[in-house]
Amino acid sequence: MKDCILKVEHLKKYFPITGGVFQKVVGQVKAVDDVSFEVKQGETLGLVGESGCGKSTTGRTLLRLLEKTAGQVTFDGKDIYKLNKNEIRKLRTDMQIIFQDPYSSLNPRMTVGEIVGESLLDHKLCSKSDLKDKVSETLKICGLAPYHIKRYPHEFSGGQRQRIGIARSLILNPKFIVADEPVSALDVSIQAQIINLLTDLQEKRGFSYLFISHDLSVVQHISHRIGVMYLGSLVELAEKNELFKNPLHPYTKALLSAAPVPDPTFKRNRIILKGDIPSPANPPSGCKFHTRCPYAKEQCSTEVPQYKDVGGGHFVSCHLT
Ligand code: SF4
Repeated sequence: MKDCILKVEHLKKYFPITGGVFQKVVGQVKAVDDVSFEVKQGETLGLVGESGCGKSTTGRTLLRLLEKTAGQVTFDGKDIYKLNKNEIRKLRTDMQIIFQDPYSSLNPRMTVGEIVGESLLDHKLCSKSDLKDKVSETLKICGLAPYHIKRYPHEFSGGQRQRIGIARSLILNPKFIVADEPVSALDVSIQAQIINLLTDLQEKRGFSYLFISHDLSVVQHISHRIGVMYLGSLVELAEKNELFKNPLHPYTKALLSAAPVPDPTFKRNRIILKGDIPSPANPPSGCKFHTRCPYAKEQCSTEVPQYKDVGGGHFVSCHLT
């Protein structure tokens, strides 16, 4: 069994809601609420769920781009919330992020060479004389030509910009990358190219991904295991094929029933969820899904279901299991 590179335990991230003349704290948005999972070396863990369910906040909190409210994040044996500023700086070389928007995540005033090479100089990992070669090599690996080094982001298409973003994350040779909706701003044909590139790079370099997306088919393509989030909590997590063959949580079943299938003759019983997602500032009591769940019973509105392994690393939180 592969070693665990990242362990997240009972992670919480709440954002204060302020109001009144004195801007007092009057409530909290529970963006991430008691989330636990592990990522193994060389593994891709997909995180899926509707917009606003806390996927991106989870990714950013475990990288310490946002500070946690509670919980523990252990990366490569170190509790990252116990590291000082210098240690966190060092950690940045091992933990990287690919952002969703290839347009706004690149500084329009910097050349591609400056964008991709900036972190190498910042961390003093390369001399100025070697920088050009190192950047050109990384651009090549990401499917860009060395002559692109002098160009600016506006001269590139969306797919090429995302390749620049990937090159920027890769140049430090990280062990772990949070890919936060890396293809959702791209055309479908370009999405496939970027997903294949991410998979190839992982095979060559052996790093791990936390791959965040609202699109189940994209997550299915790239992930080894998949976690499903609803309203700030993980409701189910399992190995990819197990999750698709044997979904246990009613929310996962509803998501799967809505996913497109590449067979026009296949008829699937679509589960339509009633109502909207409740506000994370005021989540429902008991099971957070009970206001929309077709199988909800009395116990569901009062008792929080335990998130437990029901066998073979298949985790679920539902009173029915
Ligand atoms: Fe539905 Fe109850 Fe299970 Fe929640 S605990 S998913 S409400 S059956």
